[in-house]
Amino acid sequence: MRFCPRCASELTPRLEGGRERLACARCGYVFFGEFSIGVGGVVIREGRALLIRRGQEPRRGWWQIPGGYCEHDEPIDEAVVREVYEETGIRARVENVLGLRHSLGAPSANVYVIFRLTPLEGEPRADGDEITGVGFFSPAEIAGMEKVQSLSKWAISAALARPDGFERVAEPADLARPGYTLFGLSR
Ligand SMILES: [Zn+2]
Repeated sequence: MRFCPRCASELTPRLEGGRERLACARCGYVFFGEFSIGVGGVVIREGRALLIRRGQEPRRGWWQIPGGYCEHDEPIDEAVVREVYEETGIRARVENVLGLRHSLGAPSANVYVIFRLTPLEGEPRADGDEITGVGFFSPAEIAGMEKVQSLSKWAISAALARPDGFERVAEPADLARPGYTLFGLSR
C-alpha cells in the first residue's frame, strides 16, 4: 500500500505500536496490515456431513465444508448461515463453535471460525459454477473420497465425536446488543 485509503496522501513509515508501519501524516491513518475472517459450517444430518466441491481456484475440484468470508458489517453467526444456504440450498441453525484456525500469509492474515449447525430445511443443490457438487456424506464415504480438505475432515470428525462447543452467550443484555456476538462455555 502506497497511498492513504482515506485521503489519498502518500504513506510514510512511522513508529507506531512498537514497530514501523506505513502511516498518513495528513489524516493520521495507520496501515496495520490486511486481516480477514472466514466461516465454515459443519452441518450433520443423520450422521452425514454436508460437503461442497469447489468449482473455482484455488483447490478447484476439492471437497470441503461450506463457508466463506464474513462481511465487515455482518454478525459472524449470520455469515455462516448465509454461506451455507448460498452454497448448498440448506437452511440451517447455528448450534456452537467447534474451533478456529488462524493462518498467516497471502492474501491476508485470516481467522477461520468453524461452526456446527443443524439443518432445518432444503435439499442440497449446487449452483454449477462456484460449486460443482453438494451432498451429505457418511464418514466412510468421506474416507474414500479423493481431494477432501484436511481441515474439513478434522472439523467433521470433531463434530461427530464431540458435538458440544462454545455456545452463543446473550446474557446479560449488554452482551446481546446489536453488532456484538460472544460465544463461550455456557455452563
Ligand atoms: Zn490520510
